[in-house]
Parts: sequence; C-alpha cells; structure tokens
Amino acid sequence: MTQVAEPATGSAGAELERVNHWVGGARVAGASGRKGPVYNPATGEVAREVDFASAEEVDAAVRVAREAFTGWRATSLSRRTEIMFRIRNLVDEHRREIAAFLTAEHGKVPTDALGEVARGLENMEFATGVPHLIKGTFSEQVSTGIDVYQIRQPLGVVAGITPFNFPAMVPMWMFSNAIACGNTFILKPSEKDPSASVYLAELWKEAGLPDGVFNVVHGDKVAVDAILAHPDIAAISFVGSTPIARYIYETGTKNGKRVQALGGAKNHMVVLPDADIGMAADAAVSAAYGSAGERCMAISVVVAVGDVAEPLVSAIEERLPKIKVGPGSDATAEMGPLITREHRDKVASYLDSGKHQGATLRVDGRQHPLYQDGEGFFLGVSLLDNVTPEMECYRNEIFGPVLEIVRVPTYADAVQVIEDNPYANGTAIYTRDGGAARQFQFDINVGMVGINVPIPVPVAYYSFGGWKASLFGDLHMYGPEGIQFYTRAKVITSRWPDPATSKVDLGFPRTR
Ligand code: NAD
Repeated sequence: MTQVAEPATGSAGAELERVNHWVGGARVAGASGRKGPVYNPATGEVAREVDFASAEEVDAAVRVAREAFTGWRATSLSRRTEIMFRIRNLVDEHRREIAAFLTAEHGKVPTDALGEVARGLENMEFATGVPHLIKGTFSEQVSTGIDVYQIRQPLGVVAGITPFNFPAMVPMWMFSNAIACGNTFILKPSEKDPSASVYLAELWKEAGLPDGVFNVVHGDKVAVDAILAHPDIAAISFVGSTPIARYIYETGTKNGKRVQALGGAKNHMVVLPDADIGMAADAAVSAAYGSAGERCMAISVVVAVGDVAEPLVSAIEERLPKIKVGPGSDATAEMGPLITREHRDKVASYLDSGKHQGATLRVDGRQHPLYQDGEGFFLGVSLLDNVTPEMECYRNEIFGPVLEIVRVPTYADAVQVIEDNPYANGTAIYTRDGGAARQFQFDINVGMVGINVPIPVPVAYYSFGGWKASLFGDLHMYGPEGIQFYTRAKVITSRWPDPATSKVDLGFPRTR
C-alpha cells in the first residue's frame, strides 16, 4: 500500500509527503489550496503535510457517500457481516503498520500504539455481531389478526470527527458500528495525525467494502463546519475537547442532526487509607503518565484520603525516576513526546502556575534532558502535591504527564471534590473494603468507574461515555448504545387482508 501521494515542497526545500482525502474508494488530492503540517513529535520536524478540505470538497464527499448509501443499506446482513470479518482480520494482520503511523505522528511508544489498535479492534469484533445486534422485535396478535413489529434501519450518511490522541481507536469506535448497521461514513480525523485513517480506508477497500461507503476528509474548522451544516448528514459522532464538543452538539442539533459529542476530562483516583499502597502507586503512575497523559481516561488527580497521603505520595515519587522517556524508535522507551511544541509548553506552564498558587512541585518534568536539549516535544513526568480545587492547574484539563495530588481528610470530602468538578468522564477508587467501593459506585456522578482499576475504559460490548461536561447528547459511544445511535426504529402494524371482516369505521383505531 502506498503512503505517498503528490510530493510537495516544504519550507526548507525538502519534498514532503502529502496526506490526501479518501473519497469513493480512492485518494483524492486536495483542491482548496489549504493544508497543514504533520509533525514527528519525537524530532520536532514537519514530516508530512495534510490537505484541508473546503466546504465544496466536503459536499463532494457527502454526495459520494449519499449515492453509496442506496446500495449499502440494501446489502444483505450476511454480506455486510462477511466484510466486517474481513476488515477485522486485515486490521489484526496489520496491527504493526497502523501502530507505526501512531508512533510517527502522535508520538506514543509502540507498546502503547499496539494497545490502541487492540482496543479499536474490539469494536470491529463487536460489529461482526451486527445480525444479532440489529434484530427487531415482534408482537403477534396485538389485535385480532394484527401483528406489530419494530425494525431498526440505518440513518444514511453519518460523520465522525475525532481527536489527535487516538487516531485509530476513536475512529474505530465510530465507524465499525456505523458501517455494519448500513450507514455510509465520512471521517474527519485530527489534522495532527491523519495518516492512520487513510491507511484504514485502504484496508476497508481490500476487505471488499463498496467504494463510497467509507470516506475521509481532512481539515480544520472549515471542514467541520461544512459537516455541521450539510443537510445530507444525518448524524455526527464527535470526540475531543469540551468547548468544541459543546459547539458540535449545539450546532449539529440545531441543524436537525443526531449528535453524540464526547468532551474533555479530569479523572480522579480516590485512595482510601486501607488501600494497598504499592498497588495504588503503581496504578496511579501507569494511568497518569501512560501516553504522556494524553488520554481522556488518564488519571490526572489522586485524591488521597487521611493518613494514606504521605506514604502514597512517597511511593509514587520513588517510581518516577525509573520511567524511561524517549522516542518510539527506542524500544526501551515507556513514554513519548507530546503532540506539539505549543501543547507541551502549555502543559509545562501549569507547573509554574500550580507552584505560584501554593502547590508543591515535587517532580519537575522540565529537568528532563529531552526537554532541555531535545528538538522533540518532550516533557518529563511531573508531580504536583498539595493541589487544591481553586488552583488553575486543577481547574483545567492539562492533558500531559502531570499528576496532581489533592489531600482530603475523609471519604466524604473526596466525593465532594469529584462532585464539584465539571468533568465526569472516569474515576477510580483504591480500597480493600468492598462496602466502601460499593458505596462509591452508588454515590459518584461519573460515567465510568473503576474499582481498583485505574483506567476503566469499558470493553466493546458495553458503551463508553462520561457525564456532565464530558458528554453532550443522550447516547454513549460504541457497544449497544452505538448500535442505537446509528439506527432508528420503525414500528410496523400489519394485517393480512381479510375482506370478510372489512367495513368503514371512522372511530380511532382500537384493539379488539
Ligand atoms: P480538539 O477538540 O481540539 O479537536 C477535536 C476535533 O475537533 C479535531 O478533529 C479538530 O480538527 C476539530 N476542531 C478543533 N477545533 C475546532 C473548532 N474550533 N471548530 C470545529 N472543529 C474543531 O481535541 P484534541 O486536542 O484533538 O483532543 C484532545 C481532547 O479530546 C482532550 O480534551 C481529551 O480529553 C478529549 N478526548 C475525549 C475523549 C472522550 O472519550 N471523552 C477521548 C479522547 C479525547
């Protein structure tokens, strides 16, 4: 499979690969004249350029998807299932190639990138069960000689707008179910790491998906706004930051679309005094710094209850020098760079703001040699202790390798801290007390809860989604709610003709 389309000339005169759109089963070079840089975050260099679609280019892709819908929705479930199995097998076979794109453009280390592909693959596996998942219901003889049944039908052309931090998995969350249910799909991936989506499009083609069923348009706000305004797009799935999620939800629903828009997060891990300190520290470190903290389910705040704080923070701190920060090309690296220099600097700025507002900067990632001397967008792991909810570093989603410790006297205070936070994506509790864990599960207003599990991303046969400012819409993503999102119900009331019982009756239909 080729990766390169038309060569372009970079500012330094070097030829850069161009990432094109994918429409109607083929690469389509951008015609808008607008483009964006795609960095290798480990070196800081612009590695590729990506086309930015105009509203007209989005419209052309939607027209292709609209035409493909007629045939695809009529394609038998058995044929659609066969294609789902084929794409599942191709993604499985090409895990390493997909992961390599993630490492090259996002910066995550290969083990993490392979984990992302594996979790995306689960969604494809779930979608192979579409004949069972899409089954309707049937009620016989609701009235004499009359049956009622409900069927679920696809919506038409649906779109997915995805964030930079999971360039393969989040699109797979969306398009696996959407396509299996008979919709056609327009993906607008993050412009920061767009290549994996085009590679997945090539795999879809190889799997036998008819041209036009899966399309990729790259771009920025111009492309997104064209999707939001397009009358032939029936539904939008979005994952990204909260301000954009709110905008997508408000604009999309105003334009009559079904929308699910997942936003940002600030995930708290409560550690009770009876918890196993070593296990809690391992979990906090893994969940805070994995993928350089650029995960919507990362633990960004540890809420240490009572006298667990001192030994817990020491145990976390002593683990940090052992974390190997480096590029994905180094097989021993455990944590890669951040996505852009601008984002890295923004993350680092919270270390100073936290310190100025009274937090204790116990570990400063700016001391790392790759921050000080490297050209890549690296920041070492950082630990801010004695953080309070009023501080800027707490109030914002940092989305980087910074773990904050909030110390509280009681369990009730810990719950209150979480309640007062506007986000509610994920949370976790560490304790050996089953009763306390059960109480937490009952009390807490958060969409995904881990009990001694720090990153409780649901398996593909449940659905993923936060509460409060972490999700706008009614249905969570993937799993059973994903099937509901991408289909609509039709209820049929049916009678086989029996002229013997026919008469004129102007009354409102009643059962008999
Ligand atoms: P982002 O909101 O900046 O971008 C997401 C998408 O929206 C991209 O495709 C981007 O091109 C587009 N976009 C950006 N600005 C826009 C604008 N002004 N108008 C229209 N479209 C716009 O998010 P990001 O930085 O790519 O991703 C990180 C964010 O995503 C974090 O906040 C993270 O918590 C969140 N996230 C949430 C989940 C979840 O499941 N809740 C999962 C992953 C990431």
